[in-house]
Amino acid sequence: MIVVLLGPPGAGKGTQGERVAAALGVPKIATGDVLRAAVKDGTTLGLEAKAYMDRGDLVPDAVILGIMKEALAQPAQAKGVILDGVVRTVPQAEGLATVTRELGRAVDVVLVFDIADQLLVDRLSGRTTCDKTQKPFTGLQPGAACPDGCGGTLVRRKDDEPEAILNRLRVYHAQTAPVLDWYLRQGANVARIDAVGSFDDVTARALKAVGR
Ligand code: AMP
Repeated sequence: MIVVLLGPPGAGKGTQGERVAAALGVPKIATGDVLRAAVKDGTTLGLEAKAYMDRGDLVPDAVILGIMKEALAQPAQAKGVILDGVVRTVPQAEGLATVTRELGRAVDVVLVFDIADQLLVDRLSGRTTCDKTQKPFTGLQPGAACPDGCGGTLVRRKDDEPEAILNRLRVYHAQTAPVLDWYLRQGANVARIDAVGSFDDVTARALKAVGR
């Protein structure tokens, strides 16, 4: 099963994506995580992506299509995969359709996380992230040890600074929201869920939407 997660930054795609992936027994790919790891490792990909990411702008489609292609070709994805934030422009959605078709597969569900912008600003500006596992936390300050005891330190992502948050929301409405219309026009199986509520409630909605 290939599930595309769509929704604005801070809607909970990462956390819920992990939970849905675990329930379905399939991996999750997040382009944001792939790109952050590349930035940390100082690879060519990371050097190319960093400035876009710091501003909250989208990395060019060609870069994302390369990551998408490589990731979907992995044998680990044969049973299915959760694509978190992988599709953020219409050309990326078209590219994913081509890649999946070439592999004899197709997107099964587009899961859309609905949430108001103001809630997102509050969530993202109060978020810190473990520098080791990239797991997000709320209500904890940068510099604190990761509460999971993994040895990581909590940091504020550069794109969780106020100016970048507002830009990410602008970019979402201008470039990513049209992807939903594109999928609807294609007759895709689109499921919208209310992304506000306890982690467990949202997970239950997400699992129901993917037929679990
Ligand atoms: P995220 O962790 O999903 O919030 O992604 C962090 C940043 O990575 C985004 O603000 C973009 O700069 C970049 N990024 C991640 N996925 C994509 C994508 N599919 N297309 C373009 N840029 C992306």
